[in-house]
Amino acid sequence: MIPQLIRKTLKGFTLSTSLFISVLVCAEQQEAIVVGAGMAGLTAAYELEQRGYKVTVLEARDRIGGRIGTLDMGDQHGEIGGELIDHPRVHTLVNQYSDDFGVELVDTGYWGKIEEGAYYIDGQLIPYGSLKRELGLLVRQDQIRFHNELDKLGELITDSADPRTSPNAAMLDNQNVQEWIDNLNLHPTAKMLAEHYVRAEFDDADNVSLLYMASQYKIYGKVGDNESEILRFLHGGRDFANAFASRINGPILLNHVVTAVNQPNSGGVIVKVGNKSFAGDVAVVTVPSTVLNKIKFNPALPATQKEAADNLNSGTQNKVLLQYSKRFWLDYGLGGDTVSDGQIGWTWESTERQEGEGGILVAYFSGSYADAQIEWTDEEVIQDKVDQIEQMYPGSTQYLVDTSAHLWHRDPYTMGGFLAYAPGQMMKYWGVFLEPAGNVYFAGEHTDDEHIGFIEGAVRSGVRVAKQIAGE
Ligand SMILES: Cc1cc2nc3c(=O)[nH]c(=O)nc-3n(C[C@H](O)[C@H](O)[C@H](O)COP(=O)(O)OP(=O)(O)OC[C@H]3O[C@@H](n4cnc5c(N)ncnc54)[C@H](O)[C@@H]3O)c2cc1C
Repeated sequence: MIPQLIRKTLKGFTLSTSLFISVLVCAEQQEAIVVGAGMAGLTAAYELEQRGYKVTVLEARDRIGGRIGTLDMGDQHGEIGGELIDHPRVHTLVNQYSDDFGVELVDTGYWGKIEEGAYYIDGQLIPYGSLKRELGLLVRQDQIRFHNELDKLGELITDSADPRTSPNAAMLDNQNVQEWIDNLNLHPTAKMLAEHYVRAEFDDADNVSLLYMASQYKIYGKVGDNESEILRFLHGGRDFANAFASRINGPILLNHVVTAVNQPNSGGVIVKVGNKSFAGDVAVVTVPSTVLNKIKFNPALPATQKEAADNLNSGTQNKVLLQYSKRFWLDYGLGGDTVSDGQIGWTWESTERQEGEGGILVAYFSGSYADAQIEWTDEEVIQDKVDQIEQMYPGSTQYLVDTSAHLWHRDPYTMGGFLAYAPGQMMKYWGVFLEPAGNVYFAGEHTDDEHIGFIEGAVRSGVRVAKQIAGE
């Protein structure tokens, strides 16, 4: 494959074979500097090399993977960030690369054998299937009504690749999801669960654009329970990241915090890591929008891109991993999922396909539940989750063997969870990072036009940017 710059050179000229070869050799020297070794950066680097580019990856942390990170806890492991993958029909690229690279994806849960999980409402643990019996028909009916309304919302979007083109798009964008939920007049318990759901998937409902949620339901509305979050990497997400890294020939330099990206008049880019410089023809910047403006761009980014990086709303999504020597939730006939009305948010088990008597429970808390603990120490946050699990499953603390907190909003290279467009932001900023700023291109989950906030979105953006640079 001949990269774009050379295709342009060849256009309109007849070249002798030797000149053609020397141009091709020159083409192989086209160099891309990729900023960030999360899944967007790793995919971009891999795909650019497939297209003949020479690649250098600069990563701030001492590890690759970014918001995918696998943590060993004794003989088991858990995920501090991205974890669950949808059916290949939905998360197509993650499944496809996993197949191609021999990365094992396995199913989650205890399908069919026991109840997957429970609600914890007003101090009562209620298995998912018993909601109607325990809390009444109205709650269950309103829960179904909420999900039907979500589907209807998705139908308002005519083109998920550009939701701004839908009828009444501006009006929907200016409305927040909380107003929409309020107008549904749900039973208070169904309303609490609806708000909880939005908080987990995006951010607090009053902080999410209704147009954004509609655009997500255009895509995810038709995804069934048997297709959603049904897979995870058997050996951890790091296996997926490593599979890319081991296939990238160029250097992946860790502990390299990019401080500036310059585009000199002479052409190309110079990417600065403190006093060190890396020269290339193009740069691919994959850092989350929340930390983009920590990098100094010279010339400055176009105003809308800079403004988008300053303003785009990231949800706060945090995790505490709690390892227990016994899977005590199985004694309750439950798979470890809990949806609580308290600040713990959600729990689930990460280790169903891992050996051992014990298991790791994830406590996943987001939006205001996470923001409320912004000043807390890790130890305080962990203790809070241990205590809430003890309340839900009395006696559980005696089995606790290890814990670990991952508060992504405090992480200097993430400073948030993932993009969730706030009211008014879709009409202003949708697609703003799809356009390069000169020789500076952008990738990352926040630049995808479908699977924003997912590993799939990060991978898709890496493929998109490689094709864009190669002029495909
Ligand atoms: C708690 C949590 C749970 C999640 N759960 C799921 C899930 O179950 N399923 C799912 O599909 N997705 C999930 N996600 C989302 C998913 O993890 C992300 O969408 C995806 O990993 C983002 O990849 P990325 O490459 O766009 O960004 P990142 O992974 O953030 O990569 C960007 C990289 O840039 C680096 N960087 C930042 N600044 C600099 C700098 N100045 N110089 C050099 N490098 C820099 C960072 O260190 C990082 O490695 C979750 C996310 C979180 C936070």
